[in-house]
Amino acid sequence: MAIKIPRTVIAEMISHSLEDDPEECCGFLLGTGDEVTRLRRAKNVDKQKIRRYSMDPIEVMDIQQDADTNGVRFVAIYHSHTYTQAHPSETDINNAVDSGWTDPYYVLVSLVEKTRPIVRAFTIHEDKRVEEIVITTDGQAYRGANGPESHA
Ligand SMILES: [Zn+2]
Repeated sequence: MAIKIPRTVIAEMISHSLEDDPEECCGFLLGTGDEVTRLRRAKNVDKQKIRRYSMDPIEVMDIQQDADTNGVRFVAIYHSHTYTQAHPSETDINNAVDSGWTDPYYVLVSLVEKTRPIVRAFTIHEDKRVEEIVITTDGQAYRGANGPESHA
């Protein structure tokens, strides 16, 4: 299993994460099947934006309508971790399962190393198991923002 994300979309996710740092950012990766074609940012309206994210429900409705109108789906939900690794937290896992949104993948951007953001993708199963998914970009396995070697 793999999620295909164009390099431009990965770059946009990292920009969004850096712009909102130290607060967490969030949004959707839209596309068909497991292939992402574009990104939609969503506003983080959580009270503790440094440690959590909650998407603005009005914006989510708008993005859902955008997806329906254009025949694309939510391939993934992305958000940043500004102080922790690119792995879903306990809260992320509970939120995914409680909200029933276990169909989209979860893409995490970690800014623990500001000069070298790490991007990883996961499936969160209904039984709260978390499984890492390979990210491919331009036909190759994605190995991080700046270099050929993986920090995973
Ligand atoms: Zn998180």
